Amino acid sequence: MPDRLCAEAVDLARAAAEEAAAPGVVGEHVAVVSEGDRVVTHYFECEDPGYRGWRWAVTVARASRAKNVTLDETVLLPGGDALLAPEWVPWSERLRPGDMGPGDLLPTEADDLRLEPGYTGADEPPPNSAVASVTGELADLVDAEDAELTTRPEPPLRGSIAAVADELGVRRARVLSRYGLREAADRWDEEFGAKTPMAQAAPASCVSCAFLLPLAGSLRQAFGVCANEFAPADGHVVSLAYGCGGHSEAAVMPTPPKPAPHALDTVRVDEYSLRAEAEGSSEDLGHA
Ligand code: SF4
Repeated sequence: MPDRLCAEAVDLARAAAEEAAAPGVVGEHVAVVSEGDRVVTHYFECEDPGYRGWRWAVTVARASRAKNVTLDETVLLPGGDALLAPEWVPWSERLRPGDMGPGDLLPTEADDLRLEPGYTGADEPPPNSAVASVTGELADLVDAEDAELTTRPEPPLRGSIAAVADELGVRRARVLSRYGLREAADRWDEEFGAKTPMAQAAPASCVSCAFLLPLAGSLRQAFGVCANEFAPADGHVVSLAYGCGGHSEAAVMPTPPKPAPHALDTVRVDEYSLRAEAEGSSEDLGHA
């Protein structure tokens, strides 16, 4: 039950609302709500067209055994059917694939779960182990090559220690984490995986297709890249269990049909003895 004196202080509350609001936007008195002992909030309609459904809330209070009601605070609050702005979402969560344009930069957080340090040294072999010297040489070479990177545009020679280091990821500050790998695998599998209608209707899967290019790294066990220009996945990473009608071995090109044999043989020459025929016919005439 609201305090009686506070509930009756509608004029005081209206005056406070009109002082805070623009002229003419404080409407009808719509509600009185008790907030506690001798603390009451009066609600007035807001007539501002930009704040449809909002209400001016003026809280008044009274001290114990005091008769005068005083103003506590005045705020504009949304009502049940107020028009509200959508909840704010950070840009990193609003971003969708395809939002990036030429020249855009997409920074990654230092603690991005999809990435992890490329080389931490945590699993470095003990200094007296056989591989330790290799690691030392490798580190020296990598350092030397890193220093040259800005001036030497060519990639390291194939098979060189630096190339191996590249492949292992030790020359990159960060590499994909297990979580990042799993996320990528799930995404690719959803688009070009075994459960897609195309794969379900395919005559064979990508694993046996000549158009499949293998990947490097751990994901090569489950994915490759399709290089068939007529396939729906051309240039995309596909699951080895995906497949399509463009599979290199599934459909055999039809051989051209053999022509049917001639009904009339106009090629072969039949031999006829014209003389015997002529003699026979004269004998026939003599007998006659
Ligand atoms: S052509 Fe079809 S079956 Fe072959 S790799 Fe591409 S998607 Fe897979």
